[in-house]
Amino acid sequence: MVVTETREYDILIIGGGVIGIFCAYYASQAWPHKKIAIMDKGMLGKGVTAYSACLDFPYGVTAYKRKLTGKSQGLFSELMEKYPELPVARVPFVGIAHQRSIGEVLSNITAPGAQKGTVASFHQHVPAGFQLGEGNKYFHQLHAQYAYNDITYALALELAREQKITIYEGTEATSLDKPADKYVVATNYGVSLKAGAIIDATGPWMNKGFSAASIAYRQTRIKKIVALHIDEAPPANAPIIYLFNDDAFFLPQPHLSRWLFSYRCEDWDLDIYKDDFKISPANYSDASNVLRKYNEGLHSRIAGGRAYCDLYSPDGDPIIETPDTGYVIVGAPGGSGFRLAPALAQSAISTLT
Ligand SMILES: Cc1cc2nc3c(=O)[nH]c(=O)nc-3n(C[C@H](O)[C@H](O)[C@H](O)COP(=O)(O)OP(=O)(O)OC[C@H]3O[C@@H](n4cnc5c(N)ncnc54)[C@H](O)[C@@H]3O)c2cc1C
Repeated sequence: MVVTETREYDILIIGGGVIGIFCAYYASQAWPHKKIAIMDKGMLGKGVTAYSACLDFPYGVTAYKRKLTGKSQGLFSELMEKYPELPVARVPFVGIAHQRSIGEVLSNITAPGAQKGTVASFHQHVPAGFQLGEGNKYFHQLHAQYAYNDITYALALELAREQKITIYEGTEATSLDKPADKYVVATNYGVSLKAGAIIDATGPWMNKGFSAASIAYRQTRIKKIVALHIDEAPPANAPIIYLFNDDAFFLPQPHLSRWLFSYRCEDWDLDIYKDDFKISPANYSDASNVLRKYNEGLHSRIAGGRAYCDLYSPDGDPIIETPDTGYVIVGAPGGSGFRLAPALAQSAISTLT
């Protein structure tokens, strides 16, 4: 394609999902006087991030995830103080796990205060209809938060309104070169974007996109993620109920008069360019089997849901790579990209300083 124009920036972020938008935020904080742009082949926040349940809870299976979780929670709090109008809700958190594994689960919780409850008191902490399940124990006295899906878009618009970033939507990076001291990104409509530093936050597309060569050896894989919607209004102050045995959770969404139920789907190696991410009959059956163990009554209220995917690294930990000076790849958040995004973005930015 003939290059018709070239625009120049100090920092160019490719991919406007939650990770890319947080990168834009921390880049604008670190370098308030630099020219920063973020580009997305579609609309900002409409990739994987558009499907996210946006749950942020204080837990990490690996030491690295616990570190990112703790850091992200502090960064989320700072952000909420700065932009109190961002749509985020803080709610009680009840965790359920088998009596054999509850100790291990609690050791992976990153916030203080969790209290084990007795079987007899379980129903005081959850709405009517929920069951603890055979052989399980629970803990409470924690809080978690969830954002409405549009939080990332709201943050990006805020940065644009404050003239801290330039947004290029409908702008796909088709190739990346470094002919001299700066990177040049070609786009779908002939305009090139030149930058001293590049952040690649292209989500699952990075598996095959223009940066595939850089991360191919990491053997990242795409896994489907599925959540159901339950047409039942949660009571006031309903908690998030996390089912650690099943890696599933009930999330109250009172602003939509429904619950969201996320379960662990094991459909691996999907193709982001070709596959159809519909809820399959097997997904529906697997999810409702888990749901029924904890609330039989809600089964008849399932009303569709959402299915998409995320990028996973071999060990499940997110990836931050610098294949070249001034070039960072950040992603593979393994189904936790919303809650880990602030810390991931801040670390990615720090590699450029
Ligand atoms: C159903 C579901 C529920 C989930 N629930 C949670 C949850 O409760 N909590 C949690 O922490 N995580 C959750 N996740 C995971 C979380 O949503 C993801 O980890 C996160 O959104 C990934 O963000 P990202 O920025 O890496 O990717 P994306 O949001 O996909 O952003 C990448 C962007 O890059 C753009 N792009 C790609 N290629 C190019 C290119 N060549 N040029 C320009 N732009 C390009 C895409 O258009 C896209 O907008 C859930 C995921 C799903 C599917």
